[in-house]
Amino acid sequence: MTHKVLDYINGQWTDADTSDLQKVLNPAEGAMIAEVVMTPKASVAQAVDAAKVAFREWRMTPAANRIQYLFKFKMLLEEHLNEIATIITNECGKTFKESLGEMRRGIENVEVACGIPLMMQGYNNEDISQGIDEHMFRQPLGVVTAITPFNFPGMIPLWFLPYAVATGNCFILKPSEKVPMTSAKLFELIEMAGFPKGVLQLVNGGKETVDALLDHPDVRAVSFVGSTPVARYIYSRATANGKRAQCQGGAKNPVVIMPDADMDMTTRIMADSAFGCAGQRCLAASVAITVGEARHTFTEQIADVASSRVVGYGMHDLTQMGPVISRESKTRIEGILAKGEQNGIQVLVDGRNKSVSGYDDGFWLYPTVLSDVPPDSEIAHTEIFGPVLSLMHAESVEDAIALVNARNYGNMACIFTNSGAVARQFRYEADAGNVGVNIGVAAPMAFFPFSGWNDSFFGDLHAQGHHGVEFYTQTKVVVERWPRSWSRQF
Ligand code: NAD
Repeated sequence: MTHKVLDYINGQWTDADTSDLQKVLNPAEGAMIAEVVMTPKASVAQAVDAAKVAFREWRMTPAANRIQYLFKFKMLLEEHLNEIATIITNECGKTFKESLGEMRRGIENVEVACGIPLMMQGYNNEDISQGIDEHMFRQPLGVVTAITPFNFPGMIPLWFLPYAVATGNCFILKPSEKVPMTSAKLFELIEMAGFPKGVLQLVNGGKETVDALLDHPDVRAVSFVGSTPVARYIYSRATANGKRAQCQGGAKNPVVIMPDADMDMTTRIMADSAFGCAGQRCLAASVAITVGEARHTFTEQIADVASSRVVGYGMHDLTQMGPVISRESKTRIEGILAKGEQNGIQVLVDGRNKSVSGYDDGFWLYPTVLSDVPPDSEIAHTEIFGPVLSLMHAESVEDAIALVNARNYGNMACIFTNSGAVARQFRYEADAGNVGVNIGVAAPMAFFPFSGWNDSFFGDLHAQGHHGVEFYTQTKVVVERWPRSWSRQF
């Protein structure tokens, strides 16, 4: 019998009253491994009601007690790490090692949120006027939600969930319908950790489910990670409905390679960045801009490394890169490449029309390298979200930075160089929120904000760390006077 992924509402695994189910596929096999319920509006309302009820007690639970559940959750995540990573690989396609790595980054957020008694402290002043004191407290918002993408099914929910509940909110997760099994596993562990019912809930589904959350008057804040058009839509609808919103969008990340860079190290790191997770990382390097003499060496070396990457099922030890998420995604990427070719772009390493023995129905696309991509071409600005690296060239670091900044996204920009002065110039001038120096995936640790800019982010406060704490709390300022003469009356 097909496994059905259910919702977790008010402390119960719930089969939403719907015949609307979506298939979950293993992208390496192209075969169905489960079905997921597409939760209707009425069930979303039940979850919000349960969260509202739970909030009354949860916000009064001391922060030091709230985090005890997170400590238990962290221990359970560690105990079940291999099991979770296997689920990620089977529904998302990345290698087992990549799945373990993603969970490590997710767990770090649980660890950081355990410091909430200190992180959510306010501040105060005595005698703002004689005998009058002023305090600032942080209070939770109430019911909050996060809508997450397919590419990091374990990590991205954990960018939000721990901070939301540690600060005293009740949290509803709507994961990607393409990869719902990882979240279901996380919620099994949440149930084992013993969180009070209604504090953490899971509703599966797509647009209808999301819209029900965006329009519900009792949902106070919306966190989103996904593509830019959907991020823009969710930000507009959530804020028009009076909610707080933080919406992370897509990316097209440029990396500058200077002639003085250590070329072997650079190539290795660049290959991991561009082709790791089959290029389906919002921090994947997608445009390499060589400067001066770096052009020849880097082009040759990256072509070699790209052609020799071992592609296959992510649970096999030797696999270095898995499939893309879906047949639609593969067809979409092949379409972008075909159009680029028609417009004169040269495919230096062609990852199309390749297979993996024993996995004939998998969604395979091997590493692909495009050379001499014109900076003003469509492909230079389109998020491909697959294992495709575009090469461009500039004569100076200034020209390279101009190419970096000539794009709408601003998720990440990196430079490889041996020069501190050039690195500093780049760090200072690059128009992106996450910058790497001799780093291929400049992913902020849990105690730093994930700082996308421009079309890669809509909002103000980002995910993780202090930004997460601020996003999930509202400040209350209290001005107090307690005249001595009044107390003397008693
Ligand atoms: P997506 O935008 O298709 O879906 C993301 C979420 O939104 C899913 O939960 C989905 O069910 C929901 N959704 C989709 N269409 C919707 C609609 N019309 N109305 C309401 N909800 C809708 O993204 P994806 O394909 O799952 O993920 C890949 C994208 O996410 C890429 O663009 C990638 O760059 C981006 N991403 C960004 C970051 C970041 O930190 N900026 C991190 C990871 C992924």
